[in-house]
Amino acid sequence: MNSNPTIGILGGGQLGRMLALAGYPLGLRFRFFDPDPAAPSGHLAEHVPAPYADAEALQAFAASVDLLTYEFENVPVEAARKIEAIRPIYPPPAALEAAQDRLTEKSFLQNLGVTTPEFAAINSTADCAAAAECCGLPAVLKTRRMGYDGKGQRIVRTLAELEAATLELGGAGLILEQFVPFSAECSILAVRSTTGETAFYPLVENVHRSGILHSSRVPASSNIQALQADAEVFAGRILSALNYVGVLAIEFFVSDGRLIANEMAPRVHNSGHWSIEGAETSQFENHLRAVLGLPLGSVELRGEVGMLNIIGPIPARASILKITGAHLHLYGKSARPNRKVGHVTLIASNPEQLTSVLQQADDAIQSAVFD
Ligand code: AMP
Repeated sequence: MNSNPTIGILGGGQLGRMLALAGYPLGLRFRFFDPDPAAPSGHLAEHVPAPYADAEALQAFAASVDLLTYEFENVPVEAARKIEAIRPIYPPPAALEAAQDRLTEKSFLQNLGVTTPEFAAINSTADCAAAAECCGLPAVLKTRRMGYDGKGQRIVRTLAELEAATLELGGAGLILEQFVPFSAECSILAVRSTTGETAFYPLVENVHRSGILHSSRVPASSNIQALQADAEVFAGRILSALNYVGVLAIEFFVSDGRLIANEMAPRVHNSGHWSIEGAETSQFENHLRAVLGLPLGSVELRGEVGMLNIIGPIPARASILKITGAHLHLYGKSARPNRKVGHVTLIASNPEQLTSVLQQADDAIQSAVFD
């Protein structure tokens, strides 16, 4: 590979943009492939705007770079497998396949002994009664594919509600999940290099609002920190089973002092954005190091770290930057309701100070209005 390799990234959203920002200091070059001509990565590097289903465009793109990765897990698996014959692509397409469909994903996790909520497939309203029996009620009905940030999900409390929600969500291709009465949510970011070297970031404590990540904090509360070894065992099994390369995120519920896996993402993840300033090596840099077979960097924390997503209107830059320890990231996207347009990372020297600056930043974000 040449000394300034070009990495092709499938997906040109903020994750791709932050990967490139982490890679430029290492002398890496980037090209992006994204159907949206206005994708945030377009501000940084050359961007091929073609649909993922355009096999010819994808193959030409693959041939124009040294290796490929993705920042979006809904790249068609078949397309990723075709690319594999042209250039290395990491994480392996098998990881895409395992993560794209919530039913396949939960079965895969269960086979590895990773605890999941009870679940059942729903392919017509005739499946509802048995699924409700298996998962109990209330339960969460989700589309198997393409759901994210709480989209394509309904909480159902009765069989009649389940049947109605089944029809509303398309009548087939659904999964019912036990509603987990969690005390907290957390995630682990694991990274494995082509050399097999592996590292795990400390468990991140996450708060979701309306199904979208609102904030993350590390170190997590002590009851979550106590589950670090369990999370590493679960993550380690997934990394080995998939011969994984790159960053892998696994989201968990914490219930009765145990980890219950909700989902995994075969890519850098929103709950790891804090690592740009909050860890010795960010998830983005470690992902690049991993796919290039370079030594992984330290995952040590640089203090008490918090991250807040900016969703919807964009706050005035000054309202965030005046807060001590605040680092602002805006993705260059236009603001829309429920759209992630940026994030703020806050670093403090103790938990109380972190709580205080997180509150100040949250107030500034919440008081923003659309232009
Ligand atoms: P997901 O899109 O599956 O990551 O879900 C988004 C959020 O919805 C999760 O982070 C939880 O806050 C909530 N949620 C999803 N599935 C369940 C479940 N089975 N039980 C309880 N809450 C859930």
